[in-house]
Amino acid sequence: MSHDLVVCNGTVVTPDQGTLRADVAADDGVVSAIARPNSLTGEHVVDATGNHVLPGAIDPHVHYGLYRDYALDHETETRGDLVGGVTTVGNIFRRPGSYPEIMADYVERSEANSYHDYFYTLGILSHDHVEEIPYIVNELGITSFKWYALYKFMTREKFGLDDYLLDDVGDGMIQALAAQDVPTTLGYHAENAEITRSLLDPGDPDADYHALRERYPGYAETQSMVAGAALAKCHDYDENFYAVHISSGRTADELAALRAAGYRLWGETCPHYLVYTADECDARMKVTPPMRGAEDRETLWARLADGTIDCVGTDHVCNTLDEKLGDDIWETKLAFSGTQTMLPLVLSEGVNAGRLSLERAVEVTSTNAAKAWNLYPKKGAIRVGSDADLVVVDLDDTRTVTPDLLQSGADYSIYEGMEVTGWPTHTVVRGRVAFEDGEVVGEPGDGTHVDRPV
Ligand SMILES: [Zn+2]
Repeated sequence: MSHDLVVCNGTVVTPDQGTLRADVAADDGVVSAIARPNSLTGEHVVDATGNHVLPGAIDPHVHYGLYRDYALDHETETRGDLVGGVTTVGNIFRRPGSYPEIMADYVERSEANSYHDYFYTLGILSHDHVEEIPYIVNELGITSFKWYALYKFMTREKFGLDDYLLDDVGDGMIQALAAQDVPTTLGYHAENAEITRSLLDPGDPDADYHALRERYPGYAETQSMVAGAALAKCHDYDENFYAVHISSGRTADELAALRAAGYRLWGETCPHYLVYTADECDARMKVTPPMRGAEDRETLWARLADGTIDCVGTDHVCNTLDEKLGDDIWETKLAFSGTQTMLPLVLSEGVNAGRLSLERAVEVTSTNAAKAWNLYPKKGAIRVGSDADLVVVDLDDTRTVTPDLLQSGADYSIYEGMEVTGWPTHTVVRGRVAFEDGEVVGEPGDGTHVDRPV
């Protein structure tokens, strides 16, 4: 029998079933067979000889429509993601209005413009949002939410809401989520807003990157992560509590201590904390939490390797250098693009630098995100019946990062000029080759929303 697609003779890496040389076949968008090398035939064949075949990478932490048109972000960013082997993203999305009223329109624009699959994580900003949780979970197929601790005193001015996002809202969202019949996830942006006072005090307009580090000390993240996790634990919800973008080594160490004490938590860090220290940063790298010291960076790598930090997500936003830079670092835009370079950086700085095994790299860039966000085993696995989201990588391919290479909407990359070793040769979205020979060959509309539970 001939299959729709065969990825032949590659070294297939899955954390669950080990690493083996095999053919992987896809039919009707799902993996239909895994067999001895060069034993399967297909209408379309990708020769993976000498390369590795991984489950498509999942970036659970992107923000579309933050600075640019929502539909345009979906189109340019999911397109560029294919260059970097990403086949699913979690769009962390917040609006002050009623989600049941507004989501249909956003989904429509996403469906028309996505090159790969996506899911939503909705920011809960108010008690009204808390009350919408059962409807969102049961009617919209969206089971993940976010608590932005940094917005504690910002919701009135920033979003025009009646109240601040105090801990009673967080308590309410955890209780509402714990009461749902299907598995849910709560992403938590750890930041003690009383310590960082991020919106309350204007900063010195002449400040440089180091002022960010002082404004957002690592311990304000650590303390807030522990406090949020403790509240989740009080409602037996710690298993579904996911600390996003851990930047401080101390936070990662406390995550390990909480696990040892019986907490079941998820933790995420970002490539920029694994690559840069604050000393190496300029205004392009403005993000909260900010980059930290060399010791933090090495602790994050060690905690990623030892199983404490489960996932790598990027906090991706698309913006241009023009928008990004300005005279006053407190006024310029936050964050930068990252999804397209996520997997190559983990392969280059993790696997090829000897910090992570290839199996661990697959866990932290795909399998664990699928598990944490309740996409598994539809996503994050190469097994019969899973979506045929695959990436073939050449671990020896060295490229210098440029915006052109990444083919997304940003005209800069904070990794520009860096030599990165380990790049996709092919990216497959649900059984269709979407990137090959350096070209995106997928189409907008190929991607779709992943309704949960899967
Ligand atoms: Zn974010």
